[in-house]
Amino acid sequence: MKSALITGIMGQDGAYLAKLLLTKGYKVYGFNARRSTPSNWRLQFLEIQNDVELIDGDLTDMSSMIRAIQKSKAAEVYNLGAQSFVATSWEQPILTAQVTGIGAVNVLEAIRLTEPSIKFYQASTSEMFGLIQEPMQSEKTPFYPRSPYGVAKLYGHWITVNYRESFNMFGCCGILFNHESPLRGIEFVTRKVTDAVARIKLGRQKELRLGNIDAKRDWGFAGDYVEAMWLMLQQDKPDDYVVATGRTTTVRDMCRIAFEYVDLNYEDYVIIDPKFYRPAEVEVLLGNPAKAKRVLDWEAKTSLESLIHMMVDADLKRVRYEAGGHTC
Ligand code: NDP
Ligand code: GDP
Repeated sequence: MKSALITGIMGQDGAYLAKLLLTKGYKVYGFNARRSTPSNWRLQFLEIQNDVELIDGDLTDMSSMIRAIQKSKAAEVYNLGAQSFVATSWEQPILTAQVTGIGAVNVLEAIRLTEPSIKFYQASTSEMFGLIQEPMQSEKTPFYPRSPYGVAKLYGHWITVNYRESFNMFGCCGILFNHESPLRGIEFVTRKVTDAVARIKLGRQKELRLGNIDAKRDWGFAGDYVEAMWLMLQQDKPDDYVVATGRTTTVRDMCRIAFEYVDLNYEDYVIIDPKFYRPAEVEVLLGNPAKAKRVLDWEAKTSLESLIHMMVDADLKRVRYEAGGHTC
């Protein structure tokens, strides 16, 4: 049986990727930064918490990664672990550099020192395009990151390319545009909105405070995007791919879609709060997924409307559950 090791398995993508690999017959190991309270709610949501094996470790501790690789005998390592929230990266820029940037080279070095034939996936991001240099961003578009997170990810990206070129290692970077799901962290704007819509509809919240609602993002569904990660590692040659939908939407229109789904008007509830403005903004992102379609035969299957409806439904269910005195 083929083994895979996933860093960030407790995160949104880690959970969906683990589920995908399990359905493909992999033995799945999760490299897990131990916390005082277990954070496996996403694995529980997908009903796979008993099907993955967790190995304690931290991306800033290369020795723990070496042990995890030896224990798992992984043929594929997916590096999804990160301090992934852009806004936090201005508050904790050094931690972000250490986990999100240096963490990537720690994994690459651990592979190089143990089993260099391991296939490696690096979670690169559209945030690297930042102040966009072309209206539609592809693998050839120059990068211009706008946050400490984007800068740290750029290091992770180039060090993966460099190890591929220097040591002939099988390293792929997926340049994924924003992708969301009912498992998205509550601090990201889509989930903040769908959670608020559920609470407002059920009478448990009165307003929603947001920052720059004119920002535009190319939003897809995480469940679709993890398939592209896996496909990259199944190719004959390692390469980098943009993974996106090819459609961009303002935060404002995403709000409209979410509120309209429960027959509310977002304008009656959304309040602009400069507290949520960022020191430097990524105003617009729009990905060109043509290479992923051509080489991987991958394309996004879920529309933004279906995605937001799925998230509102899940949040309505959660809020009703909480209202019944439960916690989730
Ligand atoms: P999440 O924030 O949901 O998950 C990140 C995971 O990394 C969490 O499980 C977190 O654990 C773990 N982690 C944090 N610090 C460490 C550490 N020091 N050592 C080991 N693990 C750690 O992110 P997503 O699932 O949304 O994203 C997956 C990856 O893809 C990330 O690298 C992200 O930056 C990148 N990406 C995401 C995009 C998106 O739209 N979702 C777009 C493009 C790239 P804990 O929660 O316990 O701290
Ligand atoms: P990001 O693209 O990785 O930064 O994903 P986010 O979901 O955090 O933010 C997407 C966009 O929504 C950014 O341009 C934010 O400035 C904008 N935005 C507007 N209001 C908010 C808010 O209240 N929270 C967050 N997270 N983003 C907001």
